[in-house]
Amino acid sequence: MEAKLGEFDLIWRFFKAGSESMAQTQTDQVLLGIGDDCALLQPDAAQNLAVTSDMLVEGRHFFAGANPEWLGHKALAVNLSDLAAMGAKPVGFTLALALPDANADWLAQFSQGLFRFAQQWQCPLIGGDTTQGPLTICITALGHVPAGAAIKRSGAKVGDDIWVSGTLGDARLALGALRNEWSLSPSGLEAVLPRMHQPEPRIALGLQLRGVASSALDVSDGLLGDLRHILKASQVNAEVLIDQLPTSPTLAEQTESLRRQCAANGGDDYELCFTAPAGKRMEVESLSTTLLPLTRIGSITFTSNGTEPTLMLRDANGNPLAAADSMQLRQSFDHFKSS
Ligand SMILES: [Mg+2]
Repeated sequence: MEAKLGEFDLIWRFFKAGSESMAQTQTDQVLLGIGDDCALLQPDAAQNLAVTSDMLVEGRHFFAGANPEWLGHKALAVNLSDLAAMGAKPVGFTLALALPDANADWLAQFSQGLFRFAQQWQCPLIGGDTTQGPLTICITALGHVPAGAAIKRSGAKVGDDIWVSGTLGDARLALGALRNEWSLSPSGLEAVLPRMHQPEPRIALGLQLRGVASSALDVSDGLLGDLRHILKASQVNAEVLIDQLPTSPTLAEQTESLRRQCAANGGDDYELCFTAPAGKRMEVESLSTTLLPLTRIGSITFTSNGTEPTLMLRDANGNPLAAADSMQLRQSFDHFKSS
């Protein structure tokens, strides 16, 4: 056991080297990174510190034997997605890693995916720990947002538009194909797999939504379920045009039922869903032109007055979805979501 634990100490030195290769990205907010008992950050009185943790467990959040490079990317990406949802700019992250054994090849690939993505967003690794155990990756990410400017879930107001970035459902479409729940053409699978393995959190969009969005979150568990968090926190009801949900060409050509299910309930997309006053429509449309497509998918209708919020689903013609279809979409949420 002693020898094993020694190996895990060596692993940590390996990550330290990766972190030092990013030394130039250590800003004046990170006074001291890896190497002492704690990292030291320099708090800025004009900023709020945003903190988020996400854990990925083998067999639960990813398949055993998953590509380590993709895992490195995804483990950090899902955390930075939470920062994006609140309009926070990444500052740094810590990594707690349990590994069944000290496999040098696995570590080299994992850290390549991790540090490449960290570099892209100038978000250095500032500390953490490794130990032996079932493969588990836990990252805590820190971000800055000007004091009072964080976009919370509780800010949606009656009359606000509901928007979503990019396209929804591809990660779930890919997962279902890998699980043989349905089949996809080889080119279709190739088109959607990156959405599942290497999500691109909408960090630039999150920063631009400060002062524009009234509420926001990232779509990690499926749009309808996630939107419900906004409705609950904001004490409002909403309606969503189910056929307006933006989908990729690959998902658009599936059956209506599969398309709706994946777009409405598929998890792991890491798009941003946000509300904004109708008066901000031009600003949002301008972001849609300059950053990435943003689609208006519905609106906030009434206050819920402390009762369970309702989410009305409408079809392409604006008619309420048939009760059975609506029920099926809602009820399937728990077992349909990816994890
Ligand atoms: Mg989130």
